[in-house]
Amino acid sequence: MIIQRVVLNSRPGKNGVPVAENFRLEQSTIADTIQAGQVRVRTLYLSVDPYMRCRMNEDTGSDYLLPWQLSEVADGGGIGVVEESKHGHLAKGDFVTSFSWPWQTVAILDGSLLQKLAPQRVNGRLSYFLGAAGITGLTALLGIKEKGHVTVGANQTMVVSGAAGACGSLAGQIGRLEGCSRVVGIAGTDEKCSILVQEMGFDAAFNYKTGNVAEQLRELCPGGVDVYFDNVGGDISDTVISQMNQNSHIILCGQISQYNKDVPYPPPLPPDIEKIQKERNITRERFLVLNYMDKQEASISQLCQWIQEGKLKVRETVVEGLANIGAAFQSMMNGGNIGKQIVSVSK
Ligand code: NAP
Repeated sequence: MIIQRVVLNSRPGKNGVPVAENFRLEQSTIADTIQAGQVRVRTLYLSVDPYMRCRMNEDTGSDYLLPWQLSEVADGGGIGVVEESKHGHLAKGDFVTSFSWPWQTVAILDGSLLQKLAPQRVNGRLSYFLGAAGITGLTALLGIKEKGHVTVGANQTMVVSGAAGACGSLAGQIGRLEGCSRVVGIAGTDEKCSILVQEMGFDAAFNYKTGNVAEQLRELCPGGVDVYFDNVGGDISDTVISQMNQNSHIILCGQISQYNKDVPYPPPLPPDIEKIQKERNITRERFLVLNYMDKQEASISQLCQWIQEGKLKVRETVVEGLANIGAAFQSMMNGGNIGKQIVSVSK
């Protein structure tokens, strides 16, 4: 059977900025028949995520992520529909997902590695299973629960960097649902800031590209910062940390501002900021959502419930066509649109 697939065309280099041309669309073939335990799936949605940047390097610098190989098909979070099954628990028409879905139109996969999806859990919005009801939502929820020390009634102020991104836009809302009394977002455009406040219930949000971050924080967080959901690292985070309170907590979710640099993860703080962190007893522990998969089912149920109740507002940008996945990745790494960036794959 002839299929379309996207392979890694070139590496951007450890310090390079990834571009769409690092990926290549090509025609390929898969077997016409499937073996016992396998399913043939048609791809519906693929996720582009910041962590993929390190998979573009020869060495990912982490022990849980493998590098993509040149001229080999790329993979990541994906959703598809079963077209043919020789696996006992999966039938034609079932919707399924995997963390390592190949970037191709049709694939033969091991059925035991797929999770079945129930679209009614997300009001029929299947792609949410790659975002708010998937790894992104889990990251926001479990990051807050495991590392945020959010306590109802404690009058805590939470700051979220990368606030308009997939994780950040959920994290601010979940921080509020879990008990923070004030939530402030940092994002890269005025439009994103206004959506965060008007639609997603942030108390305030400011544009780090046009305003002075230290001044805006002082004004918007007059009682200091108790919980910092850090998606970006770098100068923004150094500034937030310098305004954090005694015994406060950083949720070290990601450091996207450093991903095109050859630095270790997590990057060490500058000495003056590290001094503040230590003196004020600010926790900054590494957080990896994959370490909490025993809490996955209960957490997904919570996220689906909030989505159904309208308590969690979800935004996503869906780019049409496998051919555009490289451009979608490039755009996402440059800020993208508000919320989750998804690629929809038609036949
Ligand atoms: P995303 O949707 O691409 O959002 C990232 C946001 O950061 C964007 O809204 C972007 O827009 C902002 N941003 C990009 N570059 C920036 C820079 N240099 N300085 C400041 N802001 C910048 O990504 P995501 O899926 O939400 O992921 C967010 C973070 O979580 C990433 O660092 C990712 O690696 C991490 N993550 C961690 C785990 C875990 O287990 N720890 C799991 C999933 C994701 P603007 O610049 O326009 O604001």
